[in-house]
Amino acid sequence: MSAAPPLPPPSPRLTAAYDAARFRADGHHLIDRLADHLAAATASDDARVLPWLPPAEGIGAWPTDFPDEPADDLRTTVDRTLATSIRLHHPRYLGHQVPPPVPGAALIDALAALLNNGMAVYEMGGAATPHELAVIGWMAKTLGLPATAGGLLTSGGSLGNLTALLAARQARAGHDVWTDGSAAAPPLAVLVAATAHYSIDRAVRMLGWGAGGAIAVAVDEQHRLRPDDLGRALAQARVIGRRPIAVVASAGSTATGAYDPLPAIADFCEAHGLWLHVDGAHGAAAALSPRHAHLVAGIARADSVVWDAHKLMAMPALCTAVIYKDEEHAYGAFAQEASYLFARERQWWNLGLRTLECTKRMMGTIVYASLRAYGVGFFRDYVERVFALAQALAARVDASADFELALAPAANIVCFRYRPAGGPPPGPALDALQAAVRTRCRDAGTYYFLDTQLAGARWLRTALMNPLTTGAELDGALAAIRAAAVDVAPSFPTAG
Ligand SMILES: *Cc1c(COP(=O)(O)O)cnc(C)c1O
Repeated sequence: MSAAPPLPPPSPRLTAAYDAARFRADGHHLIDRLADHLAAATASDDARVLPWLPPAEGIGAWPTDFPDEPADDLRTTVDRTLATSIRLHHPRYLGHQVPPPVPGAALIDALAALLNNGMAVYEMGGAATPHELAVIGWMAKTLGLPATAGGLLTSGGSLGNLTALLAARQARAGHDVWTDGSAAAPPLAVLVAATAHYSIDRAVRMLGWGAGGAIAVAVDEQHRLRPDDLGRALAQARVIGRRPIAVVASAGSTATGAYDPLPAIADFCEAHGLWLHVDGAHGAAAALSPRHAHLVAGIARADSVVWDAHKLMAMPALCTAVIYKDEEHAYGAFAQEASYLFARERQWWNLGLRTLECTKRMMGTIVYASLRAYGVGFFRDYVERVFALAQALAARVDASADFELALAPAANIVCFRYRPAGGPPPGPALDALQAAVRTRCRDAGTYYFLDTQLAGARWLRTALMNPLTTGAELDGALAAIRAAAVDVAPSFPTAG
């Protein structure tokens, strides 16, 4: 046998890329830039919340060639990214349900990225695994779930809802769907209100249950599921040859933040042997506040709960908890074993048995470190602050003759519209006014909020996510809407 050929050392490019001194210098620059960004955004100066550029311009501005040799250093991309990104830490950010992350969590995100412990097995997540288990345990306890509860962290509420419905299917289908397949028994269905997040409908279709797999339950005028309609929905499911296995409740719902009445829904599920899944992606964090915990009363009776830490826990995306009242169900969702990873018997310390992901971000470490570093009190204050902002905005809308609330906010989401005296009545023209005003404010970059379709009409919508927003920005937003309305429709009177 001839000797193996010599292996040359890594190329200079490789050693330079992994150089610790270079990382240190880039890191210092990054932290300085991020701190400047934070200081500028929270100073409530004239900085725009959104440096809006039309898509062709904004997208066309970035080089798309990637030459063999470096074209930029990291700093160039950092600086340009900061300059052209929406600023969630700006007090006039009144937009989507995405929070300005508490800054320390971003640092731990960098820690997680560099360590890159894959987490499917304990060996690949020596710190991340205990962190995730501790976070799940704390969340379960916060919701009042029993000691049998347990679960997992996964990449987003949409995936979380699919995971929980997989577990519900395996538990309640009446046969081993994982092994036999869906075709072995009558098609399944869940009962759910149209106000539920679209990921529920998607999950139902991905599970192969088709459009008939989600049986619609009526909602009341506050956009909450009506428990008194569940019996009808259950009967309807059976009439069309479905086996209903679960009710999906929202706590709160995406469009309006409305909380479905969980105690009555839980009563119904218990009486009919149905799994109760609570989609608390947005609103389960209400449990952190004694003032708001009544909204999720009954959540401890759920068989499964989804809770996004990257919404009302101010964590960077993504970090979603799926929590089962009985931890055993966590294994039902993905009932097969990958033997090269998990050997034969169930190994609770290897978290990959419970998730669709194989490799997974160290998301639990970010929540764990934040809970330890800021205390639960920070999270309670955060929830109470953003809920209080919604009440403050609703009160301002109520007190203004030219604004109208769609419904009283239960959480931190407010839906309202501008309806000046002498302006158009409810209908297409009033709808168009909302959309035009919203676009005008976005383009100007002064205030960032949304518009949405609700019960057949167009409404302005804001999720108050920035705890540093104050009454001044809420007043300013209403003033900006009036001014924008003058610009888009000069004939409308604007006195309020
Ligand atoms: C945001 C949201 C989801 C989806 O969560 P992602 O983390 O964005 O995938 C699901 N349900 C509700 C009620 C939500 O508000």
